[in-house]
Amino acid sequence: MTHDLVHDDFINDGEGERWHYRPPQPVRLNPLFQWPLRVKAVWDWYRGAWLMITALTVPFVIALLIYAFVLPPLETMRTFQVGWVFTVWMMNVIPQTLVAGGLHWWLYMRKGQGMTKKFDKRELTRKNGTFTFNNQVLDNIWWTLGSAMSVATVYQCLILWLMANGWIPTVTFAETPVFFVLWMALIPMWSSMHFYWVHRLEHHPKLYKHVHAVHHRNVNVGPWSGISNHWYENMFYFTTYFVHLIIPSHPMHLMFHVYFQQISPVFSHCGFEKLVAKESEVAKSGDFFHQLHHRYFECNYGTSEIPFDRWFGTFHDGSAEGTKRTRAHKKQMYTR
Ligand SMILES: [Zn+2]
Ligand SMILES: [Zn+2]
Repeated sequence: MTHDLVHDDFINDGEGERWHYRPPQPVRLNPLFQWPLRVKAVWDWYRGAWLMITALTVPFVIALLIYAFVLPPLETMRTFQVGWVFTVWMMNVIPQTLVAGGLHWWLYMRKGQGMTKKFDKRELTRKNGTFTFNNQVLDNIWWTLGSAMSVATVYQCLILWLMANGWIPTVTFAETPVFFVLWMALIPMWSSMHFYWVHRLEHHPKLYKHVHAVHHRNVNVGPWSGISNHWYENMFYFTTYFVHLIIPSHPMHLMFHVYFQQISPVFSHCGFEKLVAKESEVAKSGDFFHQLHHRYFECNYGTSEIPFDRWFGTFHDGSAEGTKRTRAHKKQMYTR
């Protein structure tokens, strides 16, 4: 496909009207998986992800701070006690509230950047019976803080307890610095792979109807929509942490994994492509890739980190052609 064709396809797209803003270029996928390998493009992709304020670096910084100042020492976690379990719960609830609440305040209450780079034309919904409490934001806060944070806390406490007792393999930076760093860098990839498969499963019509539909109430997504999931979905979604039962890990690996899994969806669902303050872009935030999933459902199940969607024919790059393909796929799924 030539560049011009893509451009035409974007212009002659009736669906384009439905967006307030959409990126002028097709959605990009990680160039690491494109052949022939373009080293500069791969470098730019990872530099963009790791060296700026992104859905990756914010969780990493939170993980470091929590590990350094809040996480109880492993020795105290050898037996279950209310004190440290409560601390772990707070370690989930407080950063989530600060980031999701902060972004919600800035983008939707204070309207700090108005409509600049906002994908959807609409406001978040109030007085709508589809949502718990008839209110999208309260619904999302409940499913995040009530359901997601509870399940996440249980899984994390279990892993920390196993680590503390030496019943699962652990590593330290001093012993294996190369492995330590490599495993840290691979965590987002593991999470992305796990998410693709769990998410595809959730789109099985039966599971979708009873479970995943809770997340998809949000077509017009906001920061609190990120992990606004049904109980059963959270039970699947957070099994990603159980990789630490097998791959030797340090508590810092777990912390990074936790905040990546819980905080990055806040950014990818925030509804804006970029955070803008005083005319300058301060952070990459929204994720048009996933915004398309919320509008057209049967596409972009994974993330742009590992292009499973391209490999399995479910990739929507934002173009009219992508919409057509997704609709055909949807029809085939539900008429079988
Ligand atoms: Zn979905
Ligand atoms: Zn989503």
